[in-house]
Amino acid sequence: MGRITLEAVTKRFGDVEVIPPLNLDINDGEFVVFVGPSGCGKSTLLRLIAGLEDTSGGRILIDGKDATDTQPAKRGLAMVFQSYALYPHMSVRKNIAFPMRMAGVPQDEQDRRITAAAKALNLTDYLDRKPGQLSGGQRQRVAIGRAIVREPAAFLFDEPLSNLDAALRVGMRLEISELHNRLKTTMIYVTHDQVEAMTMADKIVVLRAGNIEQVGSPMELYRAPRNLFVAGFIGSPK
Ligand code: ADP
Ligand code: MG
Repeated sequence: MGRITLEAVTKRFGDVEVIPPLNLDINDGEFVVFVGPSGCGKSTLLRLIAGLEDTSGGRILIDGKDATDTQPAKRGLAMVFQSYALYPHMSVRKNIAFPMRMAGVPQDEQDRRITAAAKALNLTDYLDRKPGQLSGGQRQRVAIGRAIVREPAAFLFDEPLSNLDAALRVGMRLEISELHNRLKTTMIYVTHDQVEAMTMADKIVVLRAGNIEQVGSPMELYRAPRNLFVAGFIGSPK
């Protein structure tokens, strides 16, 4: 579970085509990074996959099933927002439980998943605190915990670390990579940070103005960038 296929997916805002017809295959368990400059369409593409935006054309398949018109909550995907999307008045436990309460998961199953997520994210001692009593990194872990308990087919991250300071970012990068190693769930991770892309990805998708410039492993892009844009972005000489 967690295979995502985009078939000639397009997105227009009014007359502006932000995503020209785009094809992409994401395999089950892959860590895929969408990278590219600000405004190139990374968030839009992620939101199309999540179902938070309607496509203007094409199809989105999740595990081989057409999900183009499926509402976001039924796609089996979990979007990880930046940590400021937590509910400040709720404890960590309640924040993590929130999506399960919405989905009607039985209480004992909620407790089991919260315990497991807290353990995986080193939050066991913080479950009764409020977000305001946590560090930025801990808050980001709570945001990830809220996604984990939904046991999604894929995690979608949109620049989750961009409001953390540089030192914390490095640590969180490692934590997310370790989480991926442990869960082996598909992750799609949007960033404009080349270092994040190169260190975290199994597969990098380089975007420019909504077009895929190149898809490949970090090593492939580094060794054989298809053009100067990719070379410049990945930071290898060409
Ligand atoms: P990125 O995440 O790579 O910075 P976005 O996906 O946010 O880029 O935006 C891609 C392009 O689409 C930008 O030109 C942006 O202005 C435009 N755009 C994004 N959302 C909307 C919207 N709701 N209405 C109109 N234009 C939008
Ligand atoms: Mg964006």
